[in-house]
This record gives sequence, C-alpha cells and structure tokens, in this order.
Amino acid sequence: MNKLVFATNNLHKLAEVRRILGESFNVLSLSDIGCHDDIPETADTLEGNALIKARWVKEKYGFDCFADDTGLMVDALGGEPGVYSARYAGPGCTPDDNVELLLRKMEGVGDRHASFRTVIALIIGDKTTTFTGQADGTIALARDGQAGFGYDPIFISAETGKTFASMTADEKNAISHRGRAVGKLCDYLRTL
Ligand code: IMP
Repeated sequence: MNKLVFATNNLHKLAEVRRILGESFNVLSLSDIGCHDDIPETADTLEGNALIKARWVKEKYGFDCFADDTGLMVDALGGEPGVYSARYAGPGCTPDDNVELLLRKMEGVGDRHASFRTVIALIIGDKTTTFTGQADGTIALARDGQAGFGYDPIFISAETGKTFASMTADEKNAISHRGRAVGKLCDYLRTL
C-alpha cells in the first residue's frame, strides 16, 4: 500500500480524509512519523500555509505528503476569519471560543453568507501540486448539531440547509470544502 503523510494531527480531519481516500493509501499522521514539531503557519494565504506544512514534512522527514489549510470566509466581515480561522479568538483559544466570537460579531447582521475554502498541497518526489475545494452556506444564528468540529455547528450548507454538525460524516464529505479538495487529490493520485 502507498504510504502518504497527511501533515496534521487533527483526528477529525484524518478520519475524514481516510474515509474519502479509501483502502488504496496508507495515510499517516504527523505523530505516526514521529513529527511533533509546531509547524509555523506564517503565510497570509491558505495556499501559502498548506505549502509550508507540506514542504516541512518533505524536507525534514523525507515522506511524500500532503497538507491542507482551511479558512471560513464570512462576506459581511470582509472575509474574516479567513486564513486566521484557527486562532480567531486569540492565541491559545479553543474552537468553542472562535464560534462564540463569530456568533457575537454576526449579531444583528442580515447578510450571513459565508464559504469554507480548503487548499491542499501535495508533494510527491520533487513535484508539488495544489487542489482547492469550496463549500457555500450561511452562518447560523445559534449552534446546531453535535457532529464534526471547529465551526461546523454554525455553518449551514447551502446544499442541504443543515449545519455541517447536523450531517453524517458521509453527507458532509460529499459536499464539504475538504471533501471536494480531497476528491480532486484522489483523482490525481489515481492517475500516477
Ligand atoms: P486548519 O486548516 O486546521 O488551519 O483550520 C483552520 C480553522 O478552521 C480551525 O479553527 C478549524 O477548526 C476550522 N476548520 C477547518 N476545517 C473545518 C471544517 O471542516 N469544519 C469546521 N471548521 C473547520
């Protein structure tokens, strides 16, 4: 089986990606390869951060790998939290703090359109390729649903009318930003 490192330790993301990529790839996490580095995400674009993470693993550990970076872009907030989605509520904040802050900023706001965007950077040998995926929706007035992670309880998919946190893993993967980007990654990997 082909070994491919997914430069993450987020178990939710790992499970999503393994489910989509299926049996043909042995997807390893950072801790699986003994990488416990705090990889800097210092770029100001999703693509830049995905490339930093993928290059870090390739250069320091020698594995073919891919890395993703995701942002939630809210129209009424000028694209916030965007590339800063993980640390929106400040250093050391929890996903719940981020959701709380976003709900507060959206209080009384009529235009609730938002989109999740994912960029995946893949490095195989000396070749780098990127893939993107997007999911459109709106920011809910309050949390709904228990599944998923991050901003899932407050993101209502335009396609299902439900929050990502109210959908099964398969339902979310079929239409999510990361599901779409990983789908493109999968198509590409099958051509190799
Ligand atoms: P990163 O890609 O891990 O840097 O994610 C940035 C931020 O977006 C983190 O706060 C994640 O919790 C959040 N995030 C990433 N993917 C998803 C998702 O599929 N649903 C909800 N939140 C997400």
